[in-house]
Amino acid sequence: MVVYEPDCSTHLQRSIWWCYTVNVLRRLGGHPALDFVNTIDPREGEDRVEHLQSFADLLDWACRGGVVTARERQRAVREASRRPAAAAQAFRRAIALREAICAAFGAVAAGGNLPSAALAEIESAYRDAIAHARLIRTRSRFGWRVGSGLELVRWQIARQAVALLESDRIGRVKRCPGSGTCGWLFLDSSRNGSRRWCSMEGCGNRAKMRRFAGRRRRARH
Ligand SMILES: [Zn+2]
Repeated sequence: MVVYEPDCSTHLQRSIWWCYTVNVLRRLGGHPALDFVNTIDPREGEDRVEHLQSFADLLDWACRGGVVTARERQRAVREASRRPAAAAQAFRRAIALREAICAAFGAVAAGGNLPSAALAEIESAYRDAIAHARLIRTRSRFGWRVGSGLELVRWQIARQAVALLESDRIGRVKRCPGSGTCGWLFLDSSRNGSRRWCSMEGCGNRAKMRRFAGRRRRARH
């Protein structure tokens, strides 16, 4: 896997690196749990790039996607500076959940059985989330509010992943076959369920170009 190690000794360099990693990462999954899986790009092969290198990256990604609020992010940043070892552990646990979601929903997309280890990881994160949640009144109804803290991203994603597993939309989870290595997961919300690629402009276009080149080669022979 490609892991860039930029020289981030100055604030400006760190900012440039942050813009490169988090900003360029597209959200094409149509669901936060699937977008979380797609933070490795592409998902397969030697050239895959890990976009979440640290707890700070995780929080930035989550905040930009609305998984946590700016206020929750700030609170977690402050706690992480007080408890760096706990933040590093929370980051590892979030990544473990991401890989479990990748395995479980990848199996769903392939029409196979859910791997039991992946399912156990998702269950465990979900139980943690509920154990730290309170039932509160919103404007017109009630809902679970997950507590704040270093594990917040993991808890929120676990709840979203379980909600997707429980919903009718689970049959619309697909894996992009682009270039053989893309492997991104997405929720097909097209009316007739015909979406094949993570993006038509990216993997879809490349596949079209390959078909075109193949036809030209065959025509020449
Ligand atoms: Zn793709």
